[in-house]
Amino acid sequence: KSAVHKICAGQVILDLSSAVKELVENSLDAGATSVEISLKDYGQESFQVIDNGSGISPHNFKVLALKHHTSKLLDFPDLQSLKTYGFRGEALSSLCALGDLTVETRTVNEVVATHLTYDHMGLLTAERKTARQVGTTITVKKLFSNLPVRSKEFRRNIRKEYGKLISLLNAYALIAKGVRLVCSNTTGKNVRSVVLKTQGSESLKENIIMVFGMSTFSCLDPVRLSISDDYLVEGFVSKPGNGSGRNIGDRQFFFVNGRPVDMPKVGKLVNELYRGANSRQYPIAIMNFSVPTRTYDVNVTPDKRKLFFFDENYILQSLREALEKIYSSSQA
Ligand code: ADP
Ligand code: MG
Repeated sequence: KSAVHKICAGQVILDLSSAVKELVENSLDAGATSVEISLKDYGQESFQVIDNGSGISPHNFKVLALKHHTSKLLDFPDLQSLKTYGFRGEALSSLCALGDLTVETRTVNEVVATHLTYDHMGLLTAERKTARQVGTTITVKKLFSNLPVRSKEFRRNIRKEYGKLISLLNAYALIAKGVRLVCSNTTGKNVRSVVLKTQGSESLKENIIMVFGMSTFSCLDPVRLSISDDYLVEGFVSKPGNGSGRNIGDRQFFFVNGRPVDMPKVGKLVNELYRGANSRQYPIAIMNFSVPTRTYDVNVTPDKRKLFFFDENYILQSLREALEKIYSSSQA
């Protein structure tokens, strides 16, 4: 049974960034306004997510990391309009299977916090009182150490994995309004460096300035397009001539109703239009699609990053026209 559990878990948590993503999303679901991510050795040794959210009630301690335990009510016919990131109750159980999981948590109803240890099957093995503010800290040590092949891959690709994680955290830092986000990494020699720090502003503009800096922001044009009454695209793209030479989408972020998603077709469109005038450059693009939930299908993949619009061609065409206008007036 344990082997099967391990294999299934490996499909929810594919790598470092999907592991941290699950924890950050849990913090956001818990209403946190501050989320701190601390990595040791780029996440190889451990990673920890500290939040000031609601905390976890004692009656959930035993079941917390069991497969399919979720406190987020799942009303199946209404999956589309789900307001929380999580709903399957798979993240903590998967993380248990793939590493050593401990939790420290306290709700407003408790005077002290509790430190909890779970085994690889998600069973609670130790519990003690500790001091902590209201909120939750989840620590995972030695991710993948019990999957030799994955573990080797992880160590070999650690820089790439780390880069992917930072890019993902940037996405949340840009879109999570009113949430302070800090990410730091501590290396073997106990040198701690802060790699990301935002103040939790309410505006996308302020968040862009905090993540990428003022000089980058001043090279962006705003995008604001309403495709219909309830269909709005808002964001920023590089002004012509101000793209980056790098052939990577590491500064292209797309969101649907505030959730980070992959939109390869939108990325391609933006690159194509932009490169029409500026060869060898790729624009920064940060766009949020505010759309009715009935117009798309999420949850196509386990990590919920892929999303599918029902009227994709129409959206792409509208966006194309809007961007062409922005580019030509910006050049004039
Ligand atoms: P899901 O997010 O799909 O519900 P998870 O396995 O990610 O499943 O988490 C299981 C449960 O643990 C959540 O439903 C929630 O009740 C609790 N939980 C996890 N992380 C936190 C957190 N940071 N703050 C409060 N509760 C949490
Ligand atoms: Mg979750």
